Order: sequence, then C-alpha cells, then structure tokens
Amino acid sequence: MRAVTVKPGVANSLNLVEDQPEPAAEEGSVLVEALAVGICGTDHEIIAGEYGEAPPGRDHLVIGHESLGRVIEDPSGTMQPGDLVAGIVRHPDPVPCPNCAVGEWDMCRNGQYTEHGIKALPGFARDRWRIEPQFAVALDPALAQVGVLLEPTSVVAKAWDHIERIGHRAEWQPQTVLVTGAGPIGLLAALLATQRGLTVHVLDRNTDGPKPELVAGLGATYHTVTVNDLPFEPDVVIECTGAPTVVLDVMCKAGPTGIVCLAGVSSGGRTINFDAGALNRELVLENNVVFGSVNANRRHWDMAAQALAGADQVWLESLITRRVPVNRYADAYTPGPDDIKVVLEFAS
Ligand SMILES: [Zn+2]
Repeated sequence: MRAVTVKPGVANSLNLVEDQPEPAAEEGSVLVEALAVGICGTDHEIIAGEYGEAPPGRDHLVIGHESLGRVIEDPSGTMQPGDLVAGIVRHPDPVPCPNCAVGEWDMCRNGQYTEHGIKALPGFARDRWRIEPQFAVALDPALAQVGVLLEPTSVVAKAWDHIERIGHRAEWQPQTVLVTGAGPIGLLAALLATQRGLTVHVLDRNTDGPKPELVAGLGATYHTVTVNDLPFEPDVVIECTGAPTVVLDVMCKAGPTGIVCLAGVSSGGRTINFDAGALNRELVLENNVVFGSVNANRRHWDMAAQALAGADQVWLESLITRRVPVNRYADAYTPGPDDIKVVLEFAS
C-alpha cells in the first residue's frame, strides 16, 4: 500500500512509498481505510528535518496526524464497518506519569508520550491504518467531507475546556473574545467561541485572501490593526500566532479578570524590549490569568466531534482550501498563498 514517509532529522526526505507493509495487528484492532489527512505546521517542521522521531528500530516515519478514515473491521465490536473515524494522536507515556495514568496524556509530565505521525508511532498518511478502540473517535456520518478537521478542533476544544475551568474560579460572565491569528486553529477557536454565544473578534495581518470572509461567515468581526489599537478589552484571548509582540500585547490588553490562552508556538531566538513590571501590575491588579495549552485528551476529542457536528457544514468545508490526491503529495506539502487547511486525499 501507499504511505507518505520522511526520514526524521533529514531535511526534504518526504517520499511516497508504494510498498509500505500493511499495518501490523499490534497497532490495534480497528482497521481503517484512509480517506484524508490534514497538513499543518508540525508536518512542515518534520519535513524540514527539525522535528519528528521514527518508531523504535526504524529509520522512516509515516507522517500525518490529522486523520479521517472509514472502519473496515473491528473484531472488538466497538466500531462498526463503515463508521467514520479519526485516530487520537497522542498515546500516554509508559511510566505512566500521574496525568497519563488517568487519561490526561495531553498534560503529560515526563515527555515520554508518543504521537502518531510525529513521535515514535506511524502516522495516518497511508492507505490503511490500525488503532486501538480507546484511541478511535467516531464521527457523525454527515462529517465525511470535513471530519479531517477533528484533530485541530480537539486542540481548541481543550483550550476552551481549560478557559472555562479557570473562569469558574470566581463568578464569571465573559462576553468578548479575541482570537489572534486566523489560521485553522484560530478560526476553529472562533467557531467554538460563537457556539458559546460570545461576541467574537479575530485579528490577523492579512487584508485579503479567504480569512476576512471566513470570519464574517461566523458572525465575528475581523481586524487588521495592532492589538493595542483594538477598541475593546477582551474577557478571553486565544493567542494563535506565536508572534512575540502579539503574545505580549494580548497579555496587556485583556480586561479585568481576563484569561489569556496561549495556543501558538514561537520559534524563539528573537529578543524584544519589554516592560515586565507593567505586565506584572496588569496581571496582579486585574486578577488576570495567562496559560499555555497544547494537545487534547479523549474527552476533548469527543467535545470536538460534537462541535463539528453542530457547526455549519458549508463553513467547515470552506476552511479546506485545497484537496490534493495522495499521488500529488509534493503539491500538498508545498504551502500556497491562500491556504487555510490543505488536505491530502486517499482515493476510495
Ligand atoms: Zn505522561
């Protein structure tokens, strides 16, 4: 069968192999026919040789961690043939740490977790894959065109789950949300904000392309000014750019009892001049919270499946700006100027 592979640590080793062995039985009882694999920044880092780890004893890694497939068989009886399914990316560490021991692998303490298509587990960019039932998430049959968005949605479902847990430390009636960065994560974070009945603002530097219309399609307001020039103080911020100045600006911009969730990752190495004392005053005197959020556990994946099922399917489809057949894999992994989400499609 076909599989998209890299040699981790070697730049531009991306390849489509035609003779990949069938998935091994020990990978899980649920056998799945691949429908689609979404592509994100992590894939580009892996292809650049900056990230990624092959399974033990192998020198190649099948990539792809944003999955959608159809169940072929599951002798355990948990999933039925024909079910739409996505595979959970992260698996708990083997120790396990206190968090992994209770299924909170998204909060792993020792870093020994594994991840499909990223870290020591084969990915989903292959014609067929296997997974254990507890890591298989069933999707509403209506999501066949957009279910590949489940993985990025799980990431924002976790962010919202933690924002709400933090918010309820005291009386909490949020009204205004600011999302910085209108990529797939930012747009899905904004979607989940609108599903909560909040007033949503999205800030991005792009003045054209598909982003302004996608934001308008949510009933949210699109801004291209700097954070400091926004005419309001948000109750909640979800920062998805990882751009150092934006990160610092939103921490100062949040209103009293504001919650700032950092979901973007900076590349680091850039020094900027900043008044740390002023930020300290802001956070203390306004009871503000800044926290980081990454990955998702089973509960968040199930929340994400509900969020997608309850969303406007046409809007979700418009997030997928390119669908590329697997045989043209190199095109799929070459970024385009108006890409939001690019998806690699496996022919049925
Ligand atoms: Zn752990």
